[in-house]
Amino acid sequence: MSFAVEFDRVARHFGQVRAVDDVSLQIAEGSFFAMLGPSGSGKTTCLRLISGFERPTAGQVRIFGDRADTLPPNRRPVNTVFQDYALFPHLSVRDNVAYGLMVRGQNKASRRDAAENMLTLVKLDGYGDRKPAQLSGGQRQRVALARALVNKPKVLLLDEPLGALDLKLREAMQDELKALQKSLGITFVFVTHDQGEALSMADTVAVFNDGKIVQLGTPEDIYQRPRTRFVADFVGSANVLPPEFCSSLDLARSWASLRAEAISLTAPGRGQVDGTLTGTRYLGAVNRLSVRVGKTELSADIPAHAPVPAPGATVGLTWDARALHRMEEG
Ligand code: ATP
Repeated sequence: MSFAVEFDRVARHFGQVRAVDDVSLQIAEGSFFAMLGPSGSGKTTCLRLISGFERPTAGQVRIFGDRADTLPPNRRPVNTVFQDYALFPHLSVRDNVAYGLMVRGQNKASRRDAAENMLTLVKLDGYGDRKPAQLSGGQRQRVALARALVNKPKVLLLDEPLGALDLKLREAMQDELKALQKSLGITFVFVTHDQGEALSMADTVAVFNDGKIVQLGTPEDIYQRPRTRFVADFVGSANVLPPEFCSSLDLARSWASLRAEAISLTAPGRGQVDGTLTGTRYLGAVNRLSVRVGKTELSADIPAHAPVPAPGATVGLTWDARALHRMEEG
């Protein structure tokens, strides 16, 4: 397999701040790679190390096998879509898209053709004469995408590009971005703090915390088998079971995760544990029950149409043993 981007023990420090701390990763050519993590975890700095706006303090970045320190930013086959889109307000949509080609000295007719093709690709035909201010947020996002793609990058970097959109539009754009990536075959590297976005679009997800990658895997790996408590907490709503809870289940003393939707209610004494119902939250498709088992509070999602016991009732909880995943650390 050939790699679009490789990080070999890369660090980027700003004084005392270890923005990126000993990160190694490989991004397969043609894949959709998400960097997921809370604010300040080092994702944007990693993108900037790929685009060349930042240089590593230690380690090596390679782009299609070439050492990045030999490639100035403008010679890297890479382009970035920023969260705020960074469109030129005084230029038409068409000229915004064609801008990169003008800088490269392409003639006007071929620039115009290329820009119109890109606008068709992002479903904005007929919008070329408008100014950015005359577009909706979602349309501006597409212009930013067209402008980045017109230069035919081999790697597209996207820094929270859907952050400014409302939920419905975000979801529609997630599907579109994924489809566009597959049809173009370009490598996409996507930064987000939204776990749903990372899980729904990416082939591979790197979860960041404190400048380090704490887990790297497929969306299913990350969701079903979080390796640490941090990942279990950050990615969705897995129950985190402490060692004393696990030892009462005859698991060795270790931390484990168990997703709320994997737990069912049963009669007291009939499941793996009994607990006391302390609360119920209606979430639309499910009711999320809070059940206190010893010192541990568990969430259990039950179908919204199923009967909910009264608060304070003793209930049994049951799950398939395969749903419980041991974690390496706490
Ligand atoms: P966000 O989601 O908020 O953009 P992030 O995960 O992308 O966060 P980075 O922007 O990479 O995080 O920042 C990582 C850490 O490095 C933060 O603590 C940040 O304050 C620090 N940092 C980033 N750039 C600089 C800089 N130029 N000078 C000093 N500190 C910086």
